[in-house]
Amino acid sequence: MFRRDGMGDDRVMAGDKDKQKEGPFDIVIVGGGPAGLTAGLYGGRGRLSTLVLEGGVLGGQMVTTDAIDNYPGFPQGVTGAELTGLMEEQARSFGCLIRRETVAAIEIQGETKTVSTEQGHYEGGALVLCPGTEYRKLGAPGEKEFTGRGVSYCATCDAAFFRDSKIVVVGGGDSALSEALFLRKFAREITIIHRRDALRAEKIYQEKAFAEPKINFLWDSVVQEIVGDQTVHKVIVRNVKTGETHDVPTEGVFMFVGITPRTAFLRGVVDLDEQGYIVTDEACRTSVEGVFGAGDARKSFLKQIATAVGDGATAAFAAEKYLEERER
Ligand SMILES: Cc1cc2nc3c(=O)[nH]c(=O)nc-3n(C[C@H](O)[C@H](O)[C@H](O)COP(=O)(O)OP(=O)(O)OC[C@H]3O[C@@H](n4cnc5c(N)ncnc54)[C@H](O)[C@@H]3O)c2cc1C
Repeated sequence: MFRRDGMGDDRVMAGDKDKQKEGPFDIVIVGGGPAGLTAGLYGGRGRLSTLVLEGGVLGGQMVTTDAIDNYPGFPQGVTGAELTGLMEEQARSFGCLIRRETVAAIEIQGETKTVSTEQGHYEGGALVLCPGTEYRKLGAPGEKEFTGRGVSYCATCDAAFFRDSKIVVVGGGDSALSEALFLRKFAREITIIHRRDALRAEKIYQEKAFAEPKINFLWDSVVQEIVGDQTVHKVIVRNVKTGETHDVPTEGVFMFVGITPRTAFLRGVVDLDEQGYIVTDEACRTSVEGVFGAGDARKSFLKQIATAVGDGATAAFAAEKYLEERER
């Protein structure tokens, strides 16, 4: 096992210009959300050479969350950006390396596991897969065309563009409501369009949303089309019970209609369920020895920061045990 002294920096890496193949690392972690950063912390603290590869924004979905009030230890709540910074600092303090690279492919040949990005290849004794999830697309005409020009999947990222605007939020779950509650600080009026006549979101979000005068609801309704020219001007909404359609003028459409795991690159590598979630046992072990799955991308009952963090710890610990046994 390649053990380190815990004084983490990037010096273990080969020269920055020559990234043909680096490692072997004890643990290579795919994804730098709360699951990946926790696995990184546990790996580093276990004196294992540990690399996190993050292809998007460090912190994952957590970093885009404005107010987190259900992560223990923060009685006044904490922002996703703050929590991400703290997790990153803690992981790095134990020697975990973090690189901004997207993993495109994984190859397993016996005990050798190779992770490939555009920049190069990384060998790992064990892999921890934490790629999380992404928002499902609605598939309505206009959605693709207006993405970035009025259609958004991230309130924290785009809310400021909709100051004093009239906008719609599509969905009825936790994300739709928590994002709508965040957007009220910017928008003039928010219409939540939900295909059912009741919300799925936690009661605490429902209470806050119903009490907010800027938020109104369109029940039993779906967005049939998004219409505009340079930017969005309206959505055409269909009532699923009556079949009637009508126009809702809007400057922005925020979509929160479910999530899907970001596991396309894992097809044929580890077992996935029918929806694409990584199948693991209680120790986060996948169908392949030495490969572990953690966080929202794992088939699990609850998808939250607290559970992602628990998964990350479990997966890294299981990876450490795997490496120890392999050495015997
Ligand atoms: C709007 C919103 C509000 C939320 N509010 C709360 C809340 O209040 N409390 C709470 O507990 N939870 C909340 N959640 C859920 C919480 O954010 C997630 O459960 C948690 O972030 C999952 O962590 P994760 O590490 O499994 O995945 P993610 O946070 O999704 O991180 C996965 C990371 O992997 C990276 N990645 C993916 N594929 C690759 C690849 N091929 N190569 C390299 N990197 C890759 C992604 O870029 C991403 O950064 C919220 C989620 C959303 C969207």
